[in-house]
Amino acid sequence: MNKKSILIVLILLSVTFVSGCTSPAEGVSEKSGNIEDNIASNEGSDSGIHGSETDVLYQVSTIDALLQGVYDGVLPVAELETHGDFGIGTFDGLEGEMLALDGNYYQIKTDGIAYPVSGEMLTPFATVTYFEADENFRLEEPVNLTELEDFLDLNLPSENLFYAVRVDGNFFYIKARSVPRQEKPYPKLADAVSTQSVFEFENISGTLVGFRAPEYVKGVNVPGYHLHFITGDRSAGGHVLDLEMENGDAALDITSAFFMELPTSGDFYDVELGQDLQADMEKVEK
Ligand SMILES: [Zn+2]
Repeated sequence: MNKKSILIVLILLSVTFVSGCTSPAEGVSEKSGNIEDNIASNEGSDSGIHGSETDVLYQVSTIDALLQGVYDGVLPVAELETHGDFGIGTFDGLEGEMLALDGNYYQIKTDGIAYPVSGEMLTPFATVTYFEADENFRLEEPVNLTELEDFLDLNLPSENLFYAVRVDGNFFYIKARSVPRQEKPYPKLADAVSTQSVFEFENISGTLVGFRAPEYVKGVNVPGYHLHFITGDRSAGGHVLDLEMENGDAALDITSAFFMELPTSGDFYDVELGQDLQADMEKVEK
């Protein structure tokens, strides 16, 4: 075993130790047997790779396919759930925002309410993982969305990895949205969001759930941060457009492996995915 491998094994062991000892933040469930098994199976590895099965980011389809209007659901939530307890996405026909937290999947519809999700429901685009915090930060000072992202960026071990991002906090203000179910022929996402509903929450506790993807994934996922929100009582939320946070706890899960499941039929086969859709992305995310 060379020095680098030893260092990585030490880091891995310390991460396991820390995550096993830190008292979980409010609403954080204890680790499942599944995760424990995966950590155990990773011990003794000297491959120099940090990840276990739980450090896989599992994605259905691509962001550019969604931007181009490929909204037919292709994967049942029951199957998505086997790839993660945490994540974001949308549903068949672009009907609402998906948020998964602590193993519970929610559909936030255009009334802003978070509905439970059944296993037969299909997703055309989603990103999930098993969340295990690698880094924890306390946010004592108020921050807006840009400041929150800058703060997290300053604390990233590297800008070239994928991170699952969880922030439990108190918010002065949150602006979120959801999109109504679309009818065929499907419009592009930049046009579909013109029918979005926007909700504003004030003085509320809750959780931000999402990912930070590196710049080089343009076309595949959203470069930078993509966050959804759910209230502390898990009753309402949406895709985050803006926020003012009072204080909270942020956790980053380094997901060093990436698995992408592409549709094997339907609109995905013929959609043109070679264009630069950056302008559409700006319109959709903000
Ligand atoms: Zn979103």
